[in-house]
Amino acid sequence: MLVDYHIHSLAHGERTQTADNLESFILQGIRKGIKEIGFCDHDWVEKKPDFALFAAMQKKYPGIETRVGIEIDHILGREEEIASLLRDQPFDYVLGGVHHLGENNWMFDHPDYKMGYQDKDIDELYRQYFQTVEQAALSGFYQVMPHLDLIKVFGYRPQKSVLTLMGGLLEIIREKSLAIELNTNGLYKPVGEIYPSCEILQASCKMDIPVIFGSDAHQCDQVGRKIEDAAALAYRVGYRQFATFHKKELILRDLDQLAITSVKRVI
Ligand SMILES: [Zn+2]
Ligand SMILES: [Zn+2]
Repeated sequence: MLVDYHIHSLAHGERTQTADNLESFILQGIRKGIKEIGFCDHDWVEKKPDFALFAAMQKKYPGIETRVGIEIDHILGREEEIASLLRDQPFDYVLGGVHHLGENNWMFDHPDYKMGYQDKDIDELYRQYFQTVEQAALSGFYQVMPHLDLIKVFGYRPQKSVLTLMGGLLEIIREKSLAIELNTNGLYKPVGEIYPSCEILQASCKMDIPVIFGSDAHQCDQVGRKIEDAAALAYRVGYRQFATFHKKELILRDLDQLAITSVKRVI
């Protein structure tokens, strides 16, 4: 069984939500054999999804489970705003994404601001990034920490091992019963590598931290992209189950060995 829990149906605000738009993503999910599709638009694009529209789509396409989440930009200092944004909304899951660092809220994963890496100590930067993710994990707002090592997006690598620079982050994720995400979008970024790296995934597996799968699709033709390979990778590092969410409840499902052993190329 394949799932894709990281879909931005509105991209970066280029589209507004309509039945046709949602349908284009759901139909692509069906074509790709996806059984559960999770929509999680950026909170800065849409704060209140049209839950009735999602319910109508679920009715129209009962063969694919539709889940509604949101990807929050976890910016330090935004906590009150985030709390009120999430209040009384029936999300199935909430992703706590860190895309900004430091006092100036540097958008470190945006190609326009890539220059920012040049005058920085990369080890320090990784440490600062993981500390910010730690704050997100501790906040209690989220079920999932997506793209855990997004700071590698442009290929700037630290000298120290990433697991050292992560400090106690994985322990906190486990203590807070959060899931991490295996996000295939990194394969299409300058770094050319899935998020998170094999060593982080392996460490997470050893600690029994659940994993979800996501493509981070911003266009319908990206739905389900490399999800089979991600499932095969998870299996290879030792995972035998993966996480799904319904009304914020984590549901573990078996990784389908038959389906993934048929995948020839493993990431
Ligand atoms: Zn993100
Ligand atoms: Zn995203």
